Amino acid sequence: MAAITLKDINKQYGDGFHAVKDVSLDIADGEFVILVGPSGCGKSTLLRMIVGLEDITSGEMLIGGQRVNEKAPRDRNLSMVFQNYALYPHLTVFENIAFPLRLSKTSAKEVDERVRHAAELLELTEHLDRKPANLSGGQRQRVAMGRAIVREAQAFLFDEPLSNLDAKLRGQMRTEISRLQKRLGITTVYVTHDQVEAMTLGDRVVVLRRGVVQQVATPRELYENP
Ligand code: ADP
Ligand code: ADP
Repeated sequence: MAAITLKDINKQYGDGFHAVKDVSLDIADGEFVILVGPSGCGKSTLLRMIVGLEDITSGEMLIGGQRVNEKAPRDRNLSMVFQNYALYPHLTVFENIAFPLRLSKTSAKEVDERVRHAAELLELTEHLDRKPANLSGGQRQRVAMGRAIVREAQAFLFDEPLSNLDAKLRGQMRTEISRLQKRLGITTVYVTHDQVEAMTLGDRVVVLRRGVVQQVATPRELYENP
């Protein structure tokens, strides 16, 4: 069963602008899918419809086999992975990762177990007492992912997470995200306008142009047949 299924998804904004046109796509469990295309092609709109932050004008969206068109973001069990700026500077790594659980009715013991488990997966165990300011860019990235992991989300969604970083850090983060995604095996949808990210990160690349899917291929296929 596909983790995420889009069937003839359309988005027409209030002003009549048709931003996403008849997009159909099956994303497999554990797959890393890149949505790529120039600015304005509808990538963010599509991602926001998956998360539930934007209504779908027509079409059907399934997550884990269940129709989610009418479901609020909190009921979709997805996690948008925010970057550095979304970490709380005054909280430790432990508390930053624990944050989503503090909002729910999770017991202290379970919070502790889940945070430690995530920290182990992310190799953050010895940094749990530190503050974000004292971490490297890669470590901060891992804390952001840790937060998504403790929620036991069904999929990670990234929206141009590296676009504000310098080239060196961007390269490091690419490697880091790719390594972690493989290790965690969690379904991932990653939006970018960067060709290098598109060609190096994912299992499959979806090329969007003016709201239409132009091509769906593996990076290798795109490389051999651009
Ligand atoms: P991308 O993420 O690929 O840069 P977006 O999904 O943000 O593209 O936007 C796709 C198109 O939809 C753009 O032409 C944009 O101007 C338009 N758009 C985005 N949000 C709105 C809105 N709220 N109302 C009208 N048009 C919008
Ligand atoms: P409200 O204030 O109406 O409760 P929010 O927009 O604060 O709604 O979001 C409620 C829930 O939706 C959050 O607790 C979270 O689980 C989920 N959510 C909101 N935004 C996102 C996002 N970008 N990625 C994943 N889940 C989100």
